[in-house]
Amino acid sequence: MKKQFFNVPDSSGHFGQYGGRFVPETLMPALIELEEAYLNLKKDKTFLRKLKELQKDFIGRATPLYFAENLTQKIGGAKIYLKREDLCHTGAHKINNALAQALLAKKMGKTRVIAETGAGQHGVATATGAALAGLECDVYMGAEDVRRQSLNVFRMKLLGAKVIEVTLGSKTLKDAINEALRDWTTNVRNTHYVMGTAFGPHPYPMMVRNFQSVIGQEARRQILQKEKRLPDCLIACVGGGSNSIGLFHPFLKDNIKMIGVEAGGLGVKSGKHAARFAGGSLGVFQGCKSYLLQDDDGNVLGTHSVSAGLDYASVGPEHAYLRDMHKVEYTSVKDNEALKAFELLSRTEGIIPALESSHAIAQGIKTAKKLGNKSIIIINLSGRGDKDVQEVAKIKGISL
Ligand SMILES: *Cc1c(COP(=O)(O)O)cnc(C)c1O
Repeated sequence: MKKQFFNVPDSSGHFGQYGGRFVPETLMPALIELEEAYLNLKKDKTFLRKLKELQKDFIGRATPLYFAENLTQKIGGAKIYLKREDLCHTGAHKINNALAQALLAKKMGKTRVIAETGAGQHGVATATGAALAGLECDVYMGAEDVRRQSLNVFRMKLLGAKVIEVTLGSKTLKDAINEALRDWTTNVRNTHYVMGTAFGPHPYPMMVRNFQSVIGQEARRQILQKEKRLPDCLIACVGGGSNSIGLFHPFLKDNIKMIGVEAGGLGVKSGKHAARFAGGSLGVFQGCKSYLLQDDDGNVLGTHSVSAGLDYASVGPEHAYLRDMHKVEYTSVKDNEALKAFELLSRTEGIIPALESSHAIAQGIKTAKKLGNKSIIIINLSGRGDKDVQEVAKIKGISL
C-alpha cells in the first residue's frame, strides 16, 4: 500500500478511520457551506494576498527561527532551534487560525462569530480577529473558568467581545463547547463558529491545519537558509493538535523524525493526565472520531495538566492517523518535567515559554541528548509564558 499521509483527509473528511462529521442533522448544512466557502477561498488570490499582508503586519510574521545556542551548549547534543510562535501578536500561534477564520467569516457574509474557550487563550485570539474584521463576537466560557481566568475575560471585553458564562454541567470547557454548538445551530445564518484547534467535524481539522501550516512553511525555508539542509527532528506539544500539525505538515513528504508531546500530568498511571494515546481508545467526541480518554461505558474522563491548553480529553484526528502510519511518534511529559523546562529556558535563553510549549522543550532536551552534535532539531515554541507566571509562582508557593 502506498503511504498517502499527505493526501488526507478524503472528501468525506476522513483521515483513515479517524475524523468525519458526527453532528446533528441540523448542523450539516452549516458544515457543508463552510467547506465550500473554504475550498473556494483557497483559490481566491485577493483573499490570500490580504491574509498574507495581515500575517505580516498584524501578527508579525514571519516569526524567527532562533538558534538556542546557550541551551544547545548546556545540553551538549543536537543543535536546538526554536520556532518563535511566542512572538506572534497576542502571544501564541492561535491567532494564525483565529484571524484567518474571522476573515473567512466576513467573506462568507457572516456578521457574527462565536467561540468557546477554556483558559481564555482562544477566546482572546478570536475576539482579536473579530475586532479587526469588524464582526460581533460572543465567547462561551464555563463559569468555573470565568472565575479562574478573570484577566482574559476582561481582555476579551476590552476587545469588544461578549463573554457568555455557562453554568451547566462541570462549568468548564466541555460544557462551553456544547453551548457554542447549540448557538451555532440556531444562528447559523449570520454566525460562524471559530474552532480553536485541529479538531471537531470536517472541515475544521483540515482547515485549521492549513491555516497553521504557515509555521512549518516558514520553518522549512528558514532552516534551509541557515543550515543548507533539513532538520533531523521536529518536536511540538499536542493539545487539540494545531501548532504541532502546523509545524509537521509541510515536512510530511520528507524523511524526518517527528515527535508530538502530550500532557503526562502526574503520570499516566495516576489517571491524572491528558495523554490520549497512552491512556485513551477510539471514540467519538464533539463531532469527530479519534483517540479519547473514556471509561468502559464510553463516558468521557476528566483530565489533568499543569497547562490548560493541553488539558483536553481528545486529540485531532490527523494525529491518530499519522501515529498509525508510524510517521509521527507521540510521547508525554509530566507536569514537573515541564515546569523544570519552563525555568531552564527562562534562565539559559531569556525566553519564558508557555507551560504548553514547556512540554515540547522538555522532550526536546531528552531528544537532543540522544542525538549527536551533528544533528539539528526544531522545537515549536507555541506561545509565551507571561500568562503562566502567576500559576508557576503559586505552584512554587510564592505569593505575589
Ligand atoms: C492552546 C495552546 C496549545 C495547544 O493547542 P494545539 O491546538 O495543540 O496547538 C499549545 N500551546 C499554546 C501556547 C497554546 O495556547
